Amino acid sequence: MMMNAPICQCCAMPMTEDSLFGTNKDGSKNEDYCAYCFKGGEFTFDGTMDEMIEFCVQPCLDNGVYPDADTARKSMKEFFPSLKRWKG
Ligand SMILES: [Zn+2]
Repeated sequence: MMMNAPICQCCAMPMTEDSLFGTNKDGSKNEDYCAYCFKGGEFTFDGTMDEMIEFCVQPCLDNGVYPDADTARKSMKEFFPSLKRWKG
């Protein structure tokens, strides 16, 4: 993972270029969330954290972030609760 890029506070994707940032209601750039999670001021996904993790397993494996699905789930379950969207 590219740790110097800001990560989406919903799905943890690194936002390495402007086009990957979400958009606010007025069309301006949202610094906290990615283009997949946050569009026009609204979240595109409104399931639970566990559902989001399941959704992220395959793309993470495709990108080689984690070696296998079990490791991916375990790491994300530890890490996701620290993201703004999932914080108590
Ligand atoms: Zn996201």
